[in-house]
Formats: sequence, structure tokens, C-alpha cells
Amino acid sequence: MNFKKYIKYTNFARNFRSLDSLIQSSGQNLLILLYHSISEKPLPHIAPLYRHRTVREFREDLAFLLKYFKPLHPLELKKIQSGEKRLRQPHFLITFDDGLKEVYTNVAPVMKELGLTGLVFLNPDFVDNQDLMFRYKAALIYNKNRDANILKLKHSDLNIIDKKAIELGLDFKDFIKKEKPYMSSEEIQELMDKDIFIPGAHSMDHPLYSDLNEQEQILQTTNSIQWVKNKFHPPVRTFAFPFTDDGISNSFFKNIKQDTDFTFGCAGLKMREQEGRHLQRFSLEGSEASAADQIYNEYFYYNLKSFIGKNKIKRN
Ligand SMILES: [Zn+2]
Repeated sequence: MNFKKYIKYTNFARNFRSLDSLIQSSGQNLLILLYHSISEKPLPHIAPLYRHRTVREFREDLAFLLKYFKPLHPLELKKIQSGEKRLRQPHFLITFDDGLKEVYTNVAPVMKELGLTGLVFLNPDFVDNQDLMFRYKAALIYNKNRDANILKLKHSDLNIIDKKAIELGLDFKDFIKKEKPYMSSEEIQELMDKDIFIPGAHSMDHPLYSDLNEQEQILQTTNSIQWVKNKFHPPVRTFAFPFTDDGISNSFFKNIKQDTDFTFGCAGLKMREQEGRHLQRFSLEGSEASAADQIYNEYFYYNLKSFIGKNKIKRN
């Protein structure tokens, strides 16, 4: 079903059920939001991949969230998992993936103003603008040659991407130096010291995990968690899967259990897994629709899906 049709159905449904009652019957009292960047103007390394939200839209998202949900501090996750704290009212948590510069320049001032603390997931290979994620590189190439095939390339095709850039006279190092797409270690440290963002890990260099064998998945995960731990000493150890946790096995989770407190996917509202230590997030990016519309839809369809047991991810 396309999104416009979605909205039409739920506008109709909204006459019968309020968001409050949908949240209540879903039993999903924690909504975790996932963003990447917030920017007024389109960003060249992101624009061909997905639509990010503007500062105005981000402020509107937060205003809506604060109306229906209470903010959850990431440290409270431990209390929820241990059963020490039960969420009687709906809560929300903001997370950002990839550690992009705009988290410091555009997001942090808004979070600070509203007294919010979020999680930001970092790739050690890109912090301090040492390199650029392969998808962002592919997007820069696409801006030059408009060939959509480049956007289909994988992490293991990095040499093809780098060769194509040379062919087109595109200098990634130059782009990184000029644009500084990622945050510096100092900026991340400052956000943590001010309790605006707690850093977590997001793999070393952002491969799609289903392209890796389990041993490689574990190494990417534990190395990045260890790096974040040594560098920033965050009070909670968190990890968000790069791209998706689709197809990740139970044995993977067992293997990384001692290295992390919480892991995050991005499959929308779903039941918690791994004894409450693996949580799913919902993204408002990719659509111009308001948080009100998108979040209503997500709860509406979650309730429908829970009737047929589709609110739970099955793993091998
Ligand atoms: Zn990412």
C-alpha cells in the first residue's frame, strides 16, 4: 500500500480511535525514533539515498512527541530491562545513526533546549572525518553521473566505487576535508559531557551485515563497541545495526551478549527481543508526512499485525 493511501485509511480510522487508545492497546510504551541528519538544505552525500528532515520538521516531530509521550533518558533502559522500572505512560527516545556533523550543529541545540538526551551511533572508521561510508561515496558519484547502478553497489564493491570516483575526477578526501560530514571526537565528547547524546557503536565501517559471515559480523560489532568504550566510556554500552538487523541469528546475539547492554534495529514497532535487550526503532525519514500521521499509522498497523502475530521478529 502506498503512503498516501495509508494516510487516507488512517484519517478515516482516526475518527474512531485516538492515538492514546492505540498506544494503550499495543502495549508498546516505548517509541524509539531513528534519524541520521537534520538539515535545512539537501546534503550531497545523502540526497540521492533518502530524504532527511529539516530543522523545522524535527522541531515539529519533537513537539508532537512531547505532547503524547514522555522523554526517556537512555540510562533508564537498564532499569526497564531489569524490571526495576515499568513504563506506565508512553515514552520516547531519540537516536541518531552514523555520527554526522549535523547532530552537533543542528540537533544538539534543539535537544539541549528541550532537555532531551539521546543516543548517537558511531562508526570508528569515520569519526574525525577519516573516511566516508561507501553509500555516501556512491551518492556523491551519482550526483556526478546520474547512474543509479552505482547506488546498488555493496560494501565489498568499495574498490569499484573508488575507481569510478577517480574516473570522474571526484576526490573523496577533498570532499571530506571541505565538508567534514562527520563529528569530531571532541564534539562527541562535548555532547556526552553535556548529557545531550550518549555515544554507542554502529560497526567499524558500516557494511550490510547480511553480506558478512557471522564471524565478520561479530568482529565488526565487538571491535566498534570496544572502541567507543575505550574512547568515551559511555555509562551504557549500546550498538545499532548498520542498515538492518534482518537475518541476524540468535547465535550472533548470544556471542555479543557480554560486550553490550542494548542493541537496536530499525524494523519499526516490534516486540522486544533477547530478554528485552534488542529493541527496534521507527524512522520518520523518507516521508514528508508529519510525525502525527506517521506515528498514528505505525501504532494502527502494529495493532493489526499483533492480531496475526506479525509484531514479532522470527530469527534462526
Ligand atoms: Zn547507519
